[in-house]
Amino acid sequence: MAERLFAEFGMRPVINARGIYTDLGGWRPSPRVWGAMQAANQHYADMADLLERSGGIVAELLGVPAARITPGATAGIVLATAACMTGTERSRIEQLPDTRGMADQVVIQRAQRYRWDKFVTLTGARLVEVGDADGTTAGQLETALGPRTAAVLHVGHLDGIGDSLPLLHVAELAHARGIPVIVDAAYSNYPTERFRSFLDAGADLAIFSAKYFGGPNTGGFVIGRADLVAAVAANDFSKAGVQDTFAIGRPFKLDRQLVVGVVEALREWLELDHGGRFEGYERHVQRIAGRLGGIEGLTLTPMCFTMEEELQPEPINCLVVRVAPTSGLNAAQVEAQLRAGNPAIYVHVRGDDLIVDVECVDDWEVEIITERLARLLQPGAASQ
Ligand SMILES: *Cc1c(COP(=O)(O)O)cnc(C)c1O
Repeated sequence: MAERLFAEFGMRPVINARGIYTDLGGWRPSPRVWGAMQAANQHYADMADLLERSGGIVAELLGVPAARITPGATAGIVLATAACMTGTERSRIEQLPDTRGMADQVVIQRAQRYRWDKFVTLTGARLVEVGDADGTTAGQLETALGPRTAAVLHVGHLDGIGDSLPLLHVAELAHARGIPVIVDAAYSNYPTERFRSFLDAGADLAIFSAKYFGGPNTGGFVIGRADLVAAVAANDFSKAGVQDTFAIGRPFKLDRQLVVGVVEALREWLELDHGGRFEGYERHVQRIAGRLGGIEGLTLTPMCFTMEEELQPEPINCLVVRVAPTSGLNAAQVEAQLRAGNPAIYVHVRGDDLIVDVECVDDWEVEIITERLARLLQPGAASQ
């Protein structure tokens, strides 16, 4: 059935041995999450109600004041920025992206500039850089914060990078001027106490993507201060029907199935035996390494491919396969052949290394990866 579907589209299915990437479809929601989404399909729902209730459940699960489900973290960045400019004031909400009369600057440390920060400007807000590439001083940040500052955007995974100001310090300086701090914490979901840790460190809003905890690729949520979460809600699509003018959140609409899927995925993630999850990765890695172990000229190293796309010793979630010149095909050629097959197998290539990340790989896919790798890495494979 799945094969027929892909064939009809003129596509080959992909085995994702790269990790969690939006461009490969995110993660695979579990049968439990999928089941909840199907159940939600049986009935219509008042979406404003569903968003209100689901936000309440997410907040309770995480032990935070308030939460709002959004279609991903990027939408969360847009809505959080809008919220900090408009509050719940209707005329302002309808005025965006025209920001006249509003504080519309979002301050970011230069050392934290990253590829998602441009989404702040979708609201009409302007990004204001502070500090230099190496870091920021408290004095520099204090000077940048003024009556035109709507918020500070802080990047969770770059917290304290170089000589930049850490969240605790940023929040202290911003709060002294009544300015809220938004944190993009998209993948900071494990250990699960991480979710609320940003609020504990002073963030007013923190943003997460469901693609990183087994939810739908297009899910996510914003958590934080109740008044600001209410302002996020006031800017989203859910009240669009009762207003004359759309809020700028209108393009970020949600299916009821998705809202329910995000809640169920979060529940499952919080209940999950994460030790067992990591053991599963290690088992997959050992299975592949066991089969390739007999092949001459390969160096096999179980490692951790991090969210920052770096290699670390632990916890194991990938196999690094160093391909020696004697094996016939080099790493780039093996990667290209894996990708050209049916099903296509996507791995990372770094110089002489193939990085086979098993986080998104099911049991049956491990067998296919193992056999295809073994065939391509046999000495003399190039001449076959
Ligand atoms: C993936 C990601 C996002 C965007 O999340 P979506 O849910 O895909 O919109 C934002 N920030 C970081 C750090 C991410 O990794």
